Amino acid sequence: MIIVLTGAPGAGKGTQAEMLAAKCGYKTFSTGHALRKHVKEGTDIGKKAEAIMARGDLVSDAVLLEILKAELQGKESDVVLLDGYPRNIPQAEALDTIDKQIVKGAVQLEVPREELISRLSGRRVCAQCGATYHAENSPPENEGVCDKCGGEVVQRTDDSAESVAHRLDVYEENTKPVLDYYREKNLFHSVSGTGSPEEIFERLKEVIGSLT
Ligand code: AMP
Repeated sequence: MIIVLTGAPGAGKGTQAEMLAAKCGYKTFSTGHALRKHVKEGTDIGKKAEAIMARGDLVSDAVLLEILKAELQGKESDVVLLDGYPRNIPQAEALDTIDKQIVKGAVQLEVPREELISRLSGRRVCAQCGATYHAENSPPENEGVCDKCGGEVVQRTDDSAESVAHRLDVYEENTKPVLDYYREKNLFHSVSGTGSPEEIFERLKEVIGSLT
């Protein structure tokens, strides 16, 4: 079964998915993470996706469905938290074609736009292990070096000021309608995505626990 974790870029879906996986045993899948891996490895998908992602636009629905189907194979009896999919109505419909009952709920992390901009433009990530930092609020101990694995801490190309603004617009236009899609199916839930990661985690744990 799938729980869709939704919300704007920078809402904290990735961080919370990791915490939920570590503490509650859920499986997680981030389409953004999977695509970045393709780019890093220089696969055909990665070559096509790289420029699109750097601009903050959406990669084609067909490519995403292919990636998703491959990931879900053999996980029929797991609870999978989906981070970053569906990003538009055709993707939400495609998910339902895999199995009409597969989505048990969609949970939005709600964060005001000004905070999203501050989070995304200050975000830094480890190029090696993916650990996330914030340039001002939670930098690594040694500048540019990951505390966890010693990898290089960098800014994602799509966290530049220009791409951030565009990604938020893409979210408003393409992904917001997905919230209504799940609202109409009585599968929609929303929790506040502001506060400490632990506070947000507690809110999410309760809602997701009631759905699974
Ligand atoms: P994320 O890490 O979720 O912010 O995703 C980073 C980028 O990957 C997005 O800005 C898109 O370019 C691409 N991407 C991730 N998930 C999807 C999706 N479901 N559909 C289309 N593009 C996606």
